[in-house]
Amino acid sequence: MALIVQKYGGTSVADLAKIHNVAERIIRTYQAGNDVVVVLSAMAGETDRLAAMANAATGDKPTPREYDALIATGEQVTVSLMAMVLNSKGFKAKSLLGSQIRIVTDKNHMAARIQKIDADFILSELGKHRIMIVAGFQGVDRKGNITTLGRGGSDTSAVAIAAAIKADYCETFTDVDGVYTTDPNVYDKARKLKKISYDEMLELSAAGAKVLHQRSVELAKLYNVPLYVRSSFNDDEGTLVTREDEDMEKEVVSGITYDRNQAKVGVIHVPDEPGIAGKLFTPFSERSIIVDMIIQNASVDGYTDLTFTIPKKDIKQVEQLLDVVSREVGAERVHIDPDISKVSVVGLGMKSHSGVASKMFTTLAREGINIQMISTSEIKISCVIGAKYTELAVRVLHDAFAMEIGQ
Ligand code: ADP
Ligand code: ASP
Ligand code: MG
Repeated sequence: MALIVQKYGGTSVADLAKIHNVAERIIRTYQAGNDVVVVLSAMAGETDRLAAMANAATGDKPTPREYDALIATGEQVTVSLMAMVLNSKGFKAKSLLGSQIRIVTDKNHMAARIQKIDADFILSELGKHRIMIVAGFQGVDRKGNITTLGRGGSDTSAVAIAAAIKADYCETFTDVDGVYTTDPNVYDKARKLKKISYDEMLELSAAGAKVLHQRSVELAKLYNVPLYVRSSFNDDEGTLVTREDEDMEKEVVSGITYDRNQAKVGVIHVPDEPGIAGKLFTPFSERSIIVDMIIQNASVDGYTDLTFTIPKKDIKQVEQLLDVVSREVGAERVHIDPDISKVSVVGLGMKSHSGVASKMFTTLAREGINIQMISTSEIKISCVIGAKYTELAVRVLHDAFAMEIGQ
């Protein structure tokens, strides 16, 4: 008998039939003698619909506070429906919003970070044999404003709750039955991993594998929460995200991933002087715009070019900021290219094996795919390429690393 947090994503609660299907799984878990806290996303497509409405209503300039208040409503619909379905089947269940169980976050709208969760309240409700149905993705800041955790953030709500109540494990149910060597919806030769380390999963999520929200993996690692990724449509055991063990070190590559949500920014012909990069990037950090890869060319005649990537959703804001800052730093011009994507090869074994980078570059070259930017970490190599080559790159890289990948 365990204390379990189960999170169901948007496709798992997309309509009433699916909500009933999930309700049955929750009941099975509860009737097996477990205490269950359920975290739900909005119905598939609903958050997009709400976001589009906010943008249409304001010419793409919604106030962050009201934007969060609007896009958080999708989850209110699913949690209340789920609780009433469970009630109608004769079970004690209660829906709760982020503000009601006091998931306290900082005030950074649209990308808030959880600071505190009222674990005692959740545990006392569980003590009354109630199934708790909690709205994912949302919290409340210290002044009572509704906040959201960033797109895909329900995974993070679930892991944060699991950590706060010291659950035995957290399960996230989605439309694929685990973490694969690459997105199974892009390449049918992708293989399911039985286990993956927190660090590798972190790199996969950071590199765009949306199967788990990056912050959820960070929290799972920090609080040592065993995290399962499973399908809500079958009983397959899924993938366990856990601490690294010796077997995992033997794998050179665990996955190939892609991110279509980045844009490339070039700030051309900037004076090569101390303080320029600081001036350029400070306005971004002040607005929580995440700059990913950064490349600075060698100086020629005292001038240099800076190239970096930003989330596509921030292009407008970055354009406006650079309009001012690029003049301040004396740049000749700014160029923004949204037609790019980033492909990455991730694996713990890269720490001790050489040759992954060269294999990646030659594989892309063989297909005539030009590499525009490269970045590396201890266990990841990423290349920026033209967006139209994304699927092709994923497939040929998966084939090229077939022997090393996901044993
Ligand atoms: P949910 O709405 O349940 O949170 P998401 O759409 O956020 O689901 O995440 C699941 C999707 O992640 C899958 O449908 C799949 O296309 C994608 N995905 C990307 N990379 C991977 C991977 N390596 N393994 C499994 N799924 C992946
Ligand atoms: N509903 C939110 C989104 O679509 C949160 C989530 O699904 O995890 O981003
Ligand atoms: Mg998701």
